[in-house]
Formats: sequence, C-alpha cells, structure tokens
Amino acid sequence: MSMLRFTNVSTHYGQIRALDDVSLHVEEGEIVSLIGANGAGKTTLLMTLCGDPRATSGDIFLGERNITHQQTAEIMRSQVAIVPEGRRIFSRLTVEENLYMGAFFATVSEKQELMHQMFDLFPRLQERRSQRAGTMSGGEQQMLAVARALMSQPKLLLLDEPSLGLAPIIIAQIFETIEKLRKDGMTIFLVEQNANQALKLADRGYVLENGRIVLEDTGARLLSNPQVQNAYLGG
Ligand code: ATP
Repeated sequence: MSMLRFTNVSTHYGQIRALDDVSLHVEEGEIVSLIGANGAGKTTLLMTLCGDPRATSGDIFLGERNITHQQTAEIMRSQVAIVPEGRRIFSRLTVEENLYMGAFFATVSEKQELMHQMFDLFPRLQERRSQRAGTMSGGEQQMLAVARALMSQPKLLLLDEPSLGLAPIIIAQIFETIEKLRKDGMTIFLVEQNANQALKLADRGYVLENGRIVLEDTGARLLSNPQVQNAYLGG
C-alpha cells in the first residue's frame, strides 16, 4: 500500500491545464523528489494534493483513502503536513507561538514535549524562541516552517522548494535535516528546483515538464541521465 498515490490526475485553472495526467507514488519511508523548472506545475501538484485547486480528473490516495474530493482541513488531519513555498510563517508571532500554532490539536503538555523535540532538531530555534519570526534570517525562517509542520506529527511531510533563496551552507543544513527525519521514519515528498541536491537525497524522483511527468527513476539514475543533466544540472 503506497502512502501517497496519484492516478491520472489533471488540474485546470480555467482553460489552462496545469497538471496533465499525472501518476506517481510515494512508499512508506521513502524520500521522493519531484523536480521541474519554473511554471512546470510543481506547486499546483502539491496544492492539488491539499485539495485546492481540486483535481479535474483522476484520483489521489493517502494510504487506502481516496482524498480527491475531501476538504483541505480533512486532508490535513490525516497525518500529512506541508511546508509551503515561501514558508508562510506568522511573522509577527514569536518562534514559540509559531510552533504552538503547528500543534493546534495537541494538549498543552504535548505541545511542550513536541516543542522540545523541535529544539533538539533545530537548536537555533531554541536560542530564538522569543524572537518575532519575521525578524529572523531566511534560513531560520525555513527551519521554523519545517518545525511548525512537524509539530502536527505527520507521517508524510510535503516540502515545496525548501532551498529557495537560501545560501548553500543553509541549504546543506536543510537537506541534512530532511535526511535525519527520514532516518527517524518520516516519509518525505520533496518538490524542488534545486535538482542536484534533491536527487542526491532521493530514493526515487520524477521530472515534471509542462504539467506532465516525463521521467521517473531512482535518484541516482536521474542524476546521471543526460537529459536531466542538460536540462536541470547545467550540462
Ligand atoms: P515555480 O517553481 O515557479 O513556483 P511551479 O512548477 O510550482 O513553478 P505552478 O506554480 O504550479 O508551477 O504553476 C503551473 C502553471 O499554472 C503556470 O503556468 C502558472 O502560471 C499556472 N497557475 C498557477 N496558479 C494559477 C492560478 N491560480 N490561476 C491561473 N493559473 C495558475
């Protein structure tokens, strides 16, 4: 049983077909990367999974459950969490308050426990726990966005371009964290323009072009694929 499965999913914005007959799967414990250029439809794919926009055809399954026609709030209660593009943290709230928002349904003591787990994972956030999130660096905000998503104790973590706009050293830290999460049993679906890093990390990967999956293989084989090298890895 796949943790996540798309079968022949299309999504339209009016007349524009942003996703075209997409099929993919993510198995428990895997890191799966989806790479593609600007406008390929990567964000649309993640958002379709979250129920907005809705798929115009095809089906999306989380485990056995067909979630294609479920409400976003319902989907987000099924142990999926998303780190959206652009982080979307609450900039006027403190680090601690942002983390609390991520664990909306937990009791106060569970929230405390989870927050300490996050501080173990990201010691920098502990140092900054009382700082307003909007005043932190881009890298710190990205760590906070990941930690906030983890506060809901997901089994499947969706990441939309976590490396966007960050310095190489910070990107390396973010990818190390993803690797660590997987070791602890998390399943990860990573959407990235940074093809090199995303494929190095991935068990399997997909290449999305103009809303269509054009290649599917192991991360290692995609990295050495001439078509991928020319289009996404600078030749
Ligand atoms: P990027 O890396 O630049 O964010 P992406 O791969 O995530 O790109 P999407 O944001 O999914 O791409 O966009 C896919 C296509 O759908 C683009 O042509 C975009 O202009 C179009 N699109 C996205 N959102 C909407 C919308 N709300 N209404 C109409 N068209 C949209």
